[in-house]
Amino acid sequence: MKRVAVLTSGGDAPGMNAAIRAVVRSGVLRGFDMVGVRNGYAGLLAGEFVPLGPRDVGGIIHEGGTMLGTSRCPEFETSIGRDQACEQLRQRDIYALVVIGGNGSQAGAAALNGRGMAVIGIASTIDNDLYGTDISIGATTALDTAIEAIDRLRVTAASHHRAFLVEVMGRHSGYLAAIAAIAGGAEAVVVPEVETTPEAIAQQLQASRDRGKSHAIVVVAEGAAHGVDELSSYFHEHQERLRLDLRVTRLGHVQRGGAPGVYDRMLATRFGCAAIERLAAGEIGVLVGLRNGSISTVPLAAAAGHAVPLDLQLLDIASALAT
Ligand code: ADP
Repeated sequence: MKRVAVLTSGGDAPGMNAAIRAVVRSGVLRGFDMVGVRNGYAGLLAGEFVPLGPRDVGGIIHEGGTMLGTSRCPEFETSIGRDQACEQLRQRDIYALVVIGGNGSQAGAAALNGRGMAVIGIASTIDNDLYGTDISIGATTALDTAIEAIDRLRVTAASHHRAFLVEVMGRHSGYLAAIAAIAGGAEAVVVPEVETTPEAIAQQLQASRDRGKSHAIVVVAEGAAHGVDELSSYFHEHQERLRLDLRVTRLGHVQRGGAPGVYDRMLATRFGCAAIERLAAGEIGVLVGLRNGSISTVPLAAAAGHAVPLDLQLLDIASALAT
């Protein structure tokens, strides 16, 4: 019986559990012997393997996070680390490895595949910046969480005629910020991809007040060149001129947790089942994603290191509709 291992790596995303469940259950149905690797690549290096049967993945489809645990593992980025990972897989007679994760994790998967290991990736990151998929597991739920918070902040902002700087996740990617800004009806958005000055944001807010808006929401990605701290101190320094009653809210890791919504549960389930189907058909070294509504794959080597740039039209829409 061929043995297939599954791991989750990098930033956790709501829906990873649903993907593990689908991989394990459809793997067992296909006749594979399924094992899990705890704590991503760190667990792979340390040999943290656990047998997984259909019952072991019960009661998790509705849980955020990952039952297997995840990690960031710089050691795995070294040649020695990757050799060690291959050795662990060989020692345990693992036929193939399923890697559920984002850009970094898929770069790791591509590296293992380049060393002759059978690896298949599943697109999962709240940043939705993976090449080869229109949408990745977790992004939709993370956005729903951000939007719920923004909606609540808008209520209090409106009552007190305040401006709120709302920090959302995205160290390198402005996707969450841009979509949250549009769907949350924000007055301004600040992303890592486009550098904007604190004064430019201040002017946008003043213009918005001149147009009759009594409150404002500014969505700021955590990786923006001028983040919430800098914006906030700039606004305070120029308080006399700007006259903005300003508050800062950091949503931070709140966006990662929470139950996956139906979209992410379905996406994760489809990806998990498809990964096993492709493996069974002998298709390896690919990332499973969604293109135009259908499951599709791209070579891991093509996906690795190619983060999808932010669609700048989203910023135009956000700005146009903030009038
Ligand atoms: P995500 O997968 O969510 O993008 P990270 O970028 O933190 O998360 O990557 C997760 C892990 O993947 C890293 O800690 C590292 O072990 C591995 N990884 C990242 N980049 C590479 C790379 N270029 N080559 C090999 N492994 C990598």
